[in-house]
Amino acid sequence: MSEKTPKPLTEAQQKILDAIEKNDVLQLKSLLSEKINVNFVDGNLMSPLQHAAYKGNKEIVQLLLDQGADVNFCEHQHNYTALHFAGLSGNREVVLALLLSGAKTQETNTVGRTAAQMAAFVGHHNCVAVINNYIPKSEVDYYTRIHGLEMQQYLMPFLSDSLHKFIMEVNIHPVKVVLNLQNLAGLADHLPDIKKVVEMMCEKEMKRGPETNETMAFKFHYLAYTIDELLKFKQKKEKADDKKIDVVELFIRNLLKPGKDGHLESMDAFIKECIREFPYRESTLFRQMVTSLTGLDPPSALSIINAAINGQKGFIDNISVCSTCGEEKPAKKCSKCKAVQYCDRNCQRLHWHWHKKACQRLSQGVETTEAPVKPDAAELSSEIQNLLIS
Ligand SMILES: [Zn+2]
Ligand SMILES: [Zn+2]
Repeated sequence: MSEKTPKPLTEAQQKILDAIEKNDVLQLKSLLSEKINVNFVDGNLMSPLQHAAYKGNKEIVQLLLDQGADVNFCEHQHNYTALHFAGLSGNREVVLALLLSGAKTQETNTVGRTAAQMAAFVGHHNCVAVINNYIPKSEVDYYTRIHGLEMQQYLMPFLSDSLHKFIMEVNIHPVKVVLNLQNLAGLADHLPDIKKVVEMMCEKEMKRGPETNETMAFKFHYLAYTIDELLKFKQKKEKADDKKIDVVELFIRNLLKPGKDGHLESMDAFIKECIREFPYRESTLFRQMVTSLTGLDPPSALSIINAAINGQKGFIDNISVCSTCGEEKPAKKCSKCKAVQYCDRNCQRLHWHWHKKACQRLSQGVETTEAPVKPDAAELSSEIQNLLIS
């Protein structure tokens, strides 16, 4: 705990704090263009970065970090770090910006709580998840170098940024994992390498001894498993020479296939198999997941791994999620039935094959007795053009 009495602020320092208080990015930019040290504290022993983190303003936080704000600088009387304040703000972008600048996650305040624990305490589970899924970039960069007797590195350096983002993604819905593999630069063309590195990261994590983070190890296993299944599926389809539909889209479609009661049976089976294949059966986490799976009236496998990785109960229960990729609070709705939500047109398109019939039923309020329509890709896309998302 600091016993320091704060020094009076200079005029420039006060102006900086005022700009942060007013969320005035432009004003702050002009103030920072001079070479000014932003590692100072005000009368409450709070630094500009701590104030900005508490306000949850990502742009201002980044400006201060770029100006040389020390992310772990802390004289606060209750030892709240910038990361504690960010967790309290509820803005996960701010949390991530601080982590990427080296914020320590295990620092505790004077009541013995870490930033993740404080964020959980005020119900900001999105911030907890970002902290719990954080991996220093150096852990990925390790594989871009040649070690010992290796002939070459396991990971091409240009893939490092994408892979880092991929493994830190908080939304672990399998469709989101596949979409990330498609969307993060370079990954889709190097799936075998990516899989190998993620598998090695899993093994390395389990060998850390008392430092082992089982949750992270399982997450690596899950990501590698998903890549492996995608690779196997691609191989199978390429042999069958079926070029009518994109293989990745077909893989996603299979995951989203509804069983009886709309329950996603094939996705459930996919995740259960992944849990069964986790090689570290003596781990506490493995036993916990198996116990949940085999209990009376078990929750979906997705909510079990989400509870394991993100410490959250339930996935689809309370919050609205995208029907395709599980992203929370999606911005759009199916304009016809207004009963399902999506991130964007792509997510809607990927789900349309299964939603089509339900959509009709939901929007008319009657059961349809029509035979299932066999859609082809072209028909599908022209149809969906008329079904604008709103
Ligand atoms: Zn989505
Ligand atoms: Zn609909």
